[in-house]
This record gives sequence, C-alpha cells and structure tokens, in this order.
Amino acid sequence: MRSIWLGLLATRRIWYALAMNPNIAVNLAKVQAQIESSCHTAGRSAGSVQLLAVSKTWGPEAVRQAHAAGQLAFGENYIQEAVDKITALQDLALQWHCIGPIQSNKTRLVAAHFDWVHSIDRLKTAQRLSEQRPSHLQPLQVCIQVNVDGGPTKAGVTPADLPALAQELSRLPGLKWRGLMTIPEPSDSPLVMRAVHAKAKALFEGLRQQGFDLDTLSMGMSADLDAAIAEGSTMVRVGTAIFGQR
Ligand SMILES: *Cc1c(COP(=O)(O)O)cnc(C)c1O
Repeated sequence: MRSIWLGLLATRRIWYALAMNPNIAVNLAKVQAQIESSCHTAGRSAGSVQLLAVSKTWGPEAVRQAHAAGQLAFGENYIQEAVDKITALQDLALQWHCIGPIQSNKTRLVAAHFDWVHSIDRLKTAQRLSEQRPSHLQPLQVCIQVNVDGGPTKAGVTPADLPALAQELSRLPGLKWRGLMTIPEPSDSPLVMRAVHAKAKALFEGLRQQGFDLDTLSMGMSADLDAAIAEGSTMVRVGTAIFGQR
C-alpha cells in the first residue's frame, strides 16, 4: 500500500496537478465552451474550430498547466523567448505555432523549432524557412498573413499581392502551405469586424477554387471570436482569456 502511494507521488503529473493554477484549466474550459457556442450559433460542428493557446510572455509552467488541462497547440510571438520555452518543454508532445513577425536572422531558429508559422508575408522569409527546415522534420506548416482591412500598423500582404506570393510559396519544398491568417483592426462595431472576416474568408475560398489545397483560416482572438467563427475561421488564437493579463 505504501509503495503505491510513493509511486503515485513520484508521478510528475500529480505534482503538476497539485501545483496547478486552477484558473488556467477553468479559463480553457470557458474558452472552449465559447467556441462551441459560437459554432452552434453559426451552424458549424464544434470540432471545426481549433483553439491555439497564445502563451507569449508566460513561462514554461503556465504551458505545463494548460497541457495538463488538455491543450496541445501553443502560439508564440517572440522567437528567442519561444525557443527557450520549447527547449524547456521537450518532454511534452506539444505543437508550436509562430504567430509574430520574423526577422531574417531568426528564420533558422524558427525552421528548427516550430511546427507552424502563421505570419508569412514575404517570399524572402518563406524561402529561407524552406531552405533551413531540417530534413528530418516534416515540412513547416505555414499560413500567409493577409492585411485584409489595410490597417497601417500591421504586417501582412495586401489582397492584391496575395496571388503572386501564393504561387511562389506553394512550390517551396520545405513548407506545406495550409491557409491564411489575419489580424483585423479592433472595432467596436460587430458589423465592421464581420465584414473584415468575411473578406478574409472570400480570399481563402478564392484560392481554394484556384486549386490550392488549403484547410486553415487563422482568425479570431479574444475580442472577435464569435464574429470570426461566424465567418468561417478554423483556428482562433487566444491568450489573455486563458493565461490572464500580460
Ligand atoms: C497576442 C496575440 C494573440 C492573442 O491575443 P489575446 O488578446 O491575448 O487573446 C493572437 N494573435 C496574435 C497574432 C497575437 O500576437
């Protein structure tokens, strides 16, 4: 009997459960429920939208807690911070998504450590990532970031430049092009937000009709989750509502 208890206590998972910030598990459940409810309202199946937990600025322990609550996919913006975290969490089977801007001198790190990149907006970056992707790994899964609403501060290609980048990107052997990502300018008007999401969805469907094999539309954050899901998002990126204020 005693050895059973000792064995149990030696299990790492028990210690994480004891040390766990209950908020992360509760918050994750709340966000999942919101996604399900939005899917229901939109007449979509609950499994059609994936949750990406944005863990930027949070340490490895917060990610461990989210993993213990069942979350597998994590988004990061700052490359060096992310690589340190990915290295510290190598004992877990996690999927890492780069969602921030990538400088040329960081492409090698991204190619070696991430599973996905959502923020491709230049052919140069895509070419470097493709060349630098280690051959023992599967191709890097990527999205093109589109600046749908012409917001001044954001990265992303314009809709006009999208077709040319799409052609080039789809030929790069180290990458698997999965779809589009967009970050709409925040607006108080749900109608304005929906219009931007709808435009992203139209661009996405247009590319599919041209024959590109795409399945991912990465749009929707804490503030515009419902609108994004209503317009066809397949992956929402949520940080604050899971981990708290940064
Ligand atoms: C930080 C970030 C998010 C998450 O934003 P929250 O407001 O914390 O939910 C989503 N997408 C991108 C690209 C981000 O940089």
